[in-house]
Amino acid sequence: MKLLREKVMNEGIVLSNQVLKVDSFLNHQMDPVLMREVGAEFARLYQGEKITKVLTIESSGIAPAIMTALELDVPMIFARKNKSLTLRDDILVEKVYSFTKQETNEITVSKKFLSNEDRVLIIDDFLANGEAAFGLARVVEQAGASVVGIGIVIEKSFQPGAKLLQEAGYRLDSLVRIASLENGTVTFA
Ligand code: 5GP
Repeated sequence: MKLLREKVMNEGIVLSNQVLKVDSFLNHQMDPVLMREVGAEFARLYQGEKITKVLTIESSGIAPAIMTALELDVPMIFARKNKSLTLRDDILVEKVYSFTKQETNEITVSKKFLSNEDRVLIIDDFLANGEAAFGLARVVEQAGASVVGIGIVIEKSFQPGAKLLQEAGYRLDSLVRIASLENGTVTFA
């Protein structure tokens, strides 16, 4: 995706060899034109796959996920990170280690929004070690639903997540792939 690559190149701030900051278009201020293109691209990739739900994790996955769901004409669900007051019987819970916060969170999705007939497309903003994507996939599988694929806006290919997800048999579609953040520079794969 040309526009996304340009945004990453021109506005991405390399915080370390491991972390890219993109708060001007994805993680704080959000670019709606870019998000619309991202949604259209994921929808194009999964056209014909009979997706019934798009699933992401709050908060930065919500914008790309809602635009994808809009294009696919299906509902979008975001897993919550906060402790829910709902009865535990009503929710699907998984533990996810957060790359950015370096702590383990429980993520929850209400059982009423995922059934064993759902065909789910998981969307997230970044892929690093794959913790968030695997956690979301476990939530889908707990509900007896199918993970049709995982769509990532920015994959850091030098971290293990992409390989691990593919080895686990998941279809993975990343819109841009970063090979390295060394020397303060973004190098695309
Ligand atoms: P993973 O779970 O794959 O280890 O990391 C993905 C999650 O951590 C994403 O949901 C994203 O919010 C966050 N994350 C991972 N790497 C980066 C990064 O380089 N920059 C930003 N802004 N977030 C990241």
